[in-house]
Amino acid sequence: MSDNRLFSFEFSAPKTEAAVEKLKTVHGKLNALSPHFFSVTYGAGGSTKDGTKQTVLDLHATGSVVAPHLSFGGDKPELIEALLKEYQAAGVRRLVALRGDRPSGIGGGMNMTHANELVAFIREHTGDHFHIDVAAYPEIHPETEDIDHEIKYFKMKVDAGANSAITQYFYNADAYFRFRDLCEKAGIDIPIVPGIMPITNYKGIVRFSDLCGAEIPRWIEKHLQSYEHDPDRLKAFGADVVTGLCERLLEGGAPGLHFYTLNQSLPTLKIWNNLGL
Ligand code: FAD
Repeated sequence: MSDNRLFSFEFSAPKTEAAVEKLKTVHGKLNALSPHFFSVTYGAGGSTKDGTKQTVLDLHATGSVVAPHLSFGGDKPELIEALLKEYQAAGVRRLVALRGDRPSGIGGGMNMTHANELVAFIREHTGDHFHIDVAAYPEIHPETEDIDHEIKYFKMKVDAGANSAITQYFYNADAYFRFRDLCEKAGIDIPIVPGIMPITNYKGIVRFSDLCGAEIPRWIEKHLQSYEHDPDRLKAFGADVVTGLCERLLEGGAPGLHFYTLNQSLPTLKIWNNLGL
């Protein structure tokens, strides 16, 4: 990589032996691009917790920089402290600290610890060992009252000790630039790296975007709907649209890009090559 911009790739923990093998290949292909780090998501409900740790340790053993995602979920602080110490002892130096999503089936009764408290907990127990990333929401998190609260809660994570942030994905560059300007006005000066979701299907992306509060502009959705039964055309359109988004973001001074790879290499590689990175 020829510049100082921060490029990173996100994986989720594979759940079958075949998926473990596939991830090794995907990691190899994306590792050839020399990203700053790979991150591995965390299912706070329990299903993928051990998988996350194993995947992190496996990738770390190849020499890659790996950042486990981490949330309190329903766990006792002692458990989280033990996991932090394990990562620390293994030489992991980065974390993505999150409140996490409610595990399906648990409903609204579970007490969720906000990410600013997790960041404070990590700093309290491991000092400056970890570089901590947190989540940011240019289009506003679905549970946040308004943009002022969004900035306020984001600043609390930064004040607790976060070093940088990765955004929820979005397809409207202006939402990112406006959010970044508001953060700057609020005195937030950490890098805010856009999260990039490649588009490879229609129904999946619409459903997921609904859940996480990412807006798909009408014209993009209409194109995707038209190409629903023509996967090649849909993927070509998706790569084109997301490449354009990335170009605008980088030209506008975004400090890098974080790709939600969904454990696939091709959609990310296509965008990467289009960008000439
Ligand atoms: P918080 O920052 O705690 O915010 C959650 C909500 O509470 C927001 O509405 C916020 O405005 C409000 N809030 C924040 N702090 C306070 C406070 N102190 N008092 C009152 N209200 C407050 N989910 C997973 O389960 N596993 C993953 O691995 C994962 N990885 C992700 C990676 C990225 C880069 C992103 C952007 C999201 C990821 N998510 C993941 C989804 C994320 O967990 C959800 O969006 C979750 O709903 C919020 O997490 P958060 O860390 O942003 O929470």
